[in-house]
Amino acid sequence: MTAKIIDGKDIAQQVREDLKKEVKALAARGVQPGLAVIVVGDNPASKVYVGQKAKACAEVGVHSEEHRFPEDVSEETVLQKIAQLNANPRIHGMIVQLPLPEHIRIATVLEAIAPTKDVDGFHMYNVGGLVIGDNKIFPPCTPYGVQFLLEYSDIPIEGRNVVVVGASNIVGKPMGLMLLHKEATVSICHVKTRDLGQFTILADILVVAAGKPGLIVPQMVKTGAVVIDVGINRLPNGKLVGDVDFEGVRQKASHITPVPGGVGPMTVTMLIYNTVEAAKRQTGTGDKSAPKLAG
Ligand code: NAD
Repeated sequence: MTAKIIDGKDIAQQVREDLKKEVKALAARGVQPGLAVIVVGDNPASKVYVGQKAKACAEVGVHSEEHRFPEDVSEETVLQKIAQLNANPRIHGMIVQLPLPEHIRIATVLEAIAPTKDVDGFHMYNVGGLVIGDNKIFPPCTPYGVQFLLEYSDIPIEGRNVVVVGASNIVGKPMGLMLLHKEATVSICHVKTRDLGQFTILADILVVAAGKPGLIVPQMVKTGAVVIDVGINRLPNGKLVGDVDFEGVRQKASHITPVPGGVGPMTVTMLIYNTVEAAKRQTGTGDKSAPKLAG
């Protein structure tokens, strides 16, 4: 068996085309969705991610603005900026680019963002909503993108065995919850899991987000499984790879995402998706339920 490649780049492009149309329709009603990005310090990876977000906003017609602060800015100053943006009617979505310097408390900053503008889905309110399956929250963008890829590719989730490798707050845990709400049977593995392969071999859908190149090899994968590789790792030779031995595992899986070009492009796209949704909710120009994951 050679796996079908799930082309995240192509699917992300199609979603962006749909979003463009939505943004046009909103413009006709006098609304332009707006996203604010707060960046502290000079982290080179953050620069790349923030650039990608601004470019995606421009492509779709979403207003975006960047608020940069030096590394030694006080927490108070950042909180003041968040308060201003919470009150700004042009801004419907707001994110604080992570990581933050150590003297700024991440939890305090994230809790200051109005939950209605928290398009990264990191505020405790949105996290709690995700736990109970509330459909008015903003799901975090990376796992939301994975769910979208699965649904877009017509991969059934209900009743399937899902194994998520990685238990972080931004990827693994919310991923497990989202697929649990889709009525999958979910196991979440992490660095202390003993004999990882004994779990992964049972997976109909295997989502890997550990940040360890070559972690998943073919003998850990069930024939016909769907394999979603969230990992992004830069090898010493400069090559970008995921956590899955792509060439080996693609001979066994039914579907697989590549790195790059799999989950990555969906993450930014879902941020724009959440921002457009936030604008609709705040201006009463859309239905107030969660965005629909139509394929
Ligand atoms: P993290 O470091 O916060 O968490 C990693 C998780 O993996 C932890 O729960 C840890 O216990 C687990 N883990 C580590 N080594 C393991 C092992 N050997 N076996 C089993 N579990 C193990 O990372 P994160 O922020 O969740 O990101 C994970 C990966 O996904 C990274 O490579 C990151 O770059 C990537 N990522 C990609 C996107 C995207 O858009 N494609 C977005 C976010 C993160």
